Amino acid sequence: MSPAPAAAPTPAPAPAPGAARAGPRTGPVPVVDIRGVTVRFGDTLALHDISATVEDNLDAGEFVTIIGPSGCGKSTLLNLIAGLLEPTSGQVLVQGRPVDGPGRDRGMIFQQYSSFPNLTVLGNVLFGLRINAGEMQLDRGARRERAMTLIREVGLTGHEAKYPSMLSGGQQQRVAIARSLALEPRILLMDEPFSALDEPTRLEMQELIVSLWSRIKPTIFCVTHSVSEAVYLGDRVWIMTQGPGQIAYEIRDCIPPSPGIPPLVAQERSDFKAAVRVVTEAFRRVAGGDPGPPSRSGSRL
Ligand code: ADP
Ligand code: MG
Repeated sequence: MSPAPAAAPTPAPAPAPGAARAGPRTGPVPVVDIRGVTVRFGDTLALHDISATVEDNLDAGEFVTIIGPSGCGKSTLLNLIAGLLEPTSGQVLVQGRPVDGPGRDRGMIFQQYSSFPNLTVLGNVLFGLRINAGEMQLDRGARRERAMTLIREVGLTGHEAKYPSMLSGGQQQRVAIARSLALEPRILLMDEPFSALDEPTRLEMQELIVSLWSRIKPTIFCVTHSVSEAVYLGDRVWIMTQGPGQIAYEIRDCIPPSPGIPPLVAQERSDFKAAVRVVTEAFRRVAGGDPGPPSRSGSRL
């Protein structure tokens, strides 16, 4: 196979020039710096000696999508960044500081709808804002204004007074997105956020999250099991491998940008199809249990 020049891979996750792991940093502090992280659960080696660095693109966060076979440690990796889990060895730094628990700077969205059932849509979006009101220096009016803005942006205007049980699955994920983004997290962690949704709703949600990302500019880590979703959402794709869990490939340069382009339009483009082929080939190698030698279609870590 000879991929088109546009499909050339970038190196696997590694510190950017000037941000070497040892020695003085000359570049900006990475948003996320994963240093030799291993996670064991009893006899299970969930993650083995993972190192990866994610920097900002100029003034915007990157969108990293993560795919890999079930059980390869994708959720474990997100939970480490979220501060819900400590590494057995190694270190995770967020903006230069070791993670020592969850924080408002990191929002998380799960596959399961994670809204409070006893609160309305508005109540759900206001909840975190109320808790963090002092720290965020937002008075009541400002909190309400911010909540209403997010509700409008996720397309739920008119549904403010409804309870989650009155909403569709897609609408409930919209609430979760609004609730997370209201706190303006520096990092948004999404664990198979659209997996429970039907295909048309998934495509709507993909377009929505890309447009919110391009406006709010958090760094996003999103686990998905769909290659085309990974290519549409991400500007780099990590392919994880199992036994033990590692980041086997990073695919970056061939991933076309998506803001402003609906998924069905993007998917018809030749550069998109080429990127899907590259990611699929790397995924097949990983799922087959043998990442094989470095290839032109994906750099092995
Ligand atoms: P993925 O999200 O890629 O499907 P996970 O990160 O959930 O994978 O899990 C990676 C491995 O760690 C799996 O073998 C899983 O069974 C194991 N694991 C995850 N969480 C726990 C836990 N809390 N206790 C024991 N084993 C766990
Ligand atoms: Mg998982």
